[in-house]
Amino acid sequence: MTTMPAEHLYTRVATGQEPLPPTGSERLRRDLDGHLDPGLTTPRSVFLRRTAADHWARVRSQLMAASAGDVQVHAAYSIKTNPHPNLLRLAQSSEMLVEAISQQELRRALELGCPPENVVLNGPGKWWPERVPCGPLRAVFCDSLVELEEVSRWLRAGDPVARVVGVRLRPPGLVSRFGIDVLQPTVLGSLVSAVFELPVHVGFGVHFHVPAEVSSVSRRWSIVDKMLRLVTRLQAATGRPVQSLDIGGGWGPDDLVEQLLPRLGELADRAVRSLPQLREVLIEPGRGLAEPTMAMLTRVLEVRPRPGGGRDVLVDAAVSELPEIARHPHRTFLRTAGTGRWGLLGAGPGDILGRSCMESDVLATGVALAADVAVGDYVAVCDAGAYDVSKSYVFGCG
Ligand SMILES: *Cc1c(COP(=O)(O)O)cnc(C)c1O
Repeated sequence: MTTMPAEHLYTRVATGQEPLPPTGSERLRRDLDGHLDPGLTTPRSVFLRRTAADHWARVRSQLMAASAGDVQVHAAYSIKTNPHPNLLRLAQSSEMLVEAISQQELRRALELGCPPENVVLNGPGKWWPERVPCGPLRAVFCDSLVELEEVSRWLRAGDPVARVVGVRLRPPGLVSRFGIDVLQPTVLGSLVSAVFELPVHVGFGVHFHVPAEVSSVSRRWSIVDKMLRLVTRLQAATGRPVQSLDIGGGWGPDDLVEQLLPRLGELADRAVRSLPQLREVLIEPGRGLAEPTMAMLTRVLEVRPRPGGGRDVLVDAAVSELPEIARHPHRTFLRTAGTGRWGLLGAGPGDILGRSCMESDVLATGVALAADVAVGDYVAVCDAGAYDVSKSYVFGCG
């Protein structure tokens, strides 16, 4: 994560007319302050309205810039990452699509007013638990040959299913349980036959996903390049033009806005040279969109001086409410009653210990905790809007 610039609260331009737009850290402080209330019970997962709006607006404008060529570029927000209604509403107001992995997610999106033609359906168990009746979806990417054959039968029977029906391909060289491994000799032949059976009125698409565990940006791009060559070969083998290319999610928030989005237009231009009937490039960001939008507010239960100087604090949140705490950096702020102001924690000799009786329940290590920190002070663990929410579990609560 990039570190936030220091103090810009109440900065004004020299002429004194207009306040400068808030910087990220000032916006974040205002968002956090908005949740402080004497009746607030902690730990509490809170939505950061201004921070979220700013991040999504930035992504939206980058998507528009990437769509300047002949190929449309769209993002489909991955609902499973965090199905918070505010995020689904942001997807709609930002003119983004949503990506669902189950019929329950599809139902949820439809209930919140998202039209079926804005839903991309993906993943292995996407028809579970039972099919939601609705108009044709934007795109369906089949995870196996068996599923492709089934969907193809539905289409031939007059069921419109989706405007684009395609396949998920397993990127070569990655260990994955998902998608079709076309490098297996017999698999390619079967896929060619299955695609041949697909009615011509439906667009054909290909999807792949580079998992977040591939953290090196250059490795991610090299997989994308390899997949583009593989999709071109698949198009030649099937004779079926690829109209929709979905490169999945797996990009963190900084990499999304600094690495992927600025180069997406160029990727679309490159893709259409080898896939001349390509109409759209899709991305499926989950963490990249959701992570900065929520924080965990927690309070100090105990202050423990360290023998060598400095101090640790015990807080009322636990790793069960922040299950991703060790997987990616979380900017953490402390608001002491003395200053009444959120300060970003820098490096120092202290730890933030979770309330539960688990060795691994440590929310931050090596942070500088102010000398005036006291019981009842607030700690805000930011960047907790993605899988910290959707994978949280109840633990140690009786
Ligand atoms: C989970 C998932 C995503 C989102 O992944 P992030 O790592 O949150 O960006 C996108 N597409 C598919 C098919 C997924 O299963």
